[in-house]
Amino acid sequence: MHIAYLDESGTQKGARYFVLAGFIVFERNTLYLARALDQIQARYFPGYSETAVFHAAALRAPSKRVPPPFNLLTQEERFQLISDVYQVILDSHARIITVAIEKAAIDGDPYERGFEEIVSRFDYFLGRIRRERGEDQRGLIVVADSTYRKNLELQARRIAKEGHRWGEIHNLADIPYFAPAKNTRLLQLADFVSNAVFGRYESGHANHFDRITPKFDQDDGGRIHGLVHIARDRDNCYCPACGQRRLIPPLNP
Ligand SMILES: [Zn+2]
Repeated sequence: MHIAYLDESGTQKGARYFVLAGFIVFERNTLYLARALDQIQARYFPGYSETAVFHAAALRAPSKRVPPPFNLLTQEERFQLISDVYQVILDSHARIITVAIEKAAIDGDPYERGFEEIVSRFDYFLGRIRRERGEDQRGLIVVADSTYRKNLELQARRIAKEGHRWGEIHNLADIPYFAPAKNTRLLQLADFVSNAVFGRYESGHANHFDRITPKFDQDDGGRIHGLVHIARDRDNCYCPACGQRRLIPPLNP
C-alpha cells in the first residue's frame, strides 16, 4: 500500500495561490520517517517529553509568535531545524504530487480542483508503477483535518462512485481518512512540502522548493507528473511543470 498524506497552504484571505500537496510514502517506510522527525526533536529539545508538532509556517513566524517549545530556539536554530526537516524529505523514498493553483485562474473551489488533481495523479502513479515494475499496490489518502472536511467527504464519495473529471479511478483502496496533523509526523512532512511549494508560487522563495524538486513524481523517462501549475499566465513561467509543458504536450490539458 502507498499512502498519500495531504496538506494545504494558502487558504488565508489575500493569498493569491492555493497549494495542495501529497506526500506519498510506501507503508513500510512510514515508521522510519516518523522516527526521523522524533530524532530531530530529541536533538533540539532533549528532555522535552511531549510531541513538538512541526509546522513550517509557525517556525518561520516572527519570534514573538513562535509557539512553544520552538520559541526556546534562536531564529538561526529554527531555520536550521526547517532545513533538517527538508533533508529528511530529500533523503526519503517518498514521492511528491502537488498542485499549485492561482485562485483567479479557475472557477469554483480551489480545494476541490486540487483534490481532484491529486486523486487522479495518485491513481495514475499507482497504475504506472504496476506497468513499469509489476508492483500491484493500492493507495490510501490521509488528509489533515481541516474546515474542508465535510466538503471533501462529499467530493471523495462522488469520485469513488463516478470517477474524477478525466475518467474512473482504479487503484485507491478506500475513501480518504482524516487525521489531526498533531497525531502523525507524516502529515507534518506534508505540511513542509505544501509550505515550500506555496512559498515558491506565492512569493518567489524557491530555495526549499528547489531542494525537494527531485522528489516530484516522475516516470522512468524523467517526465514529471507530480507537479501541476494552474495559472493565467503560464507562458512566462519557468517552473519545472511549465517548462516541461512547453517541451511536451500534457496528458491532461
Ligand atoms: Zn509554472
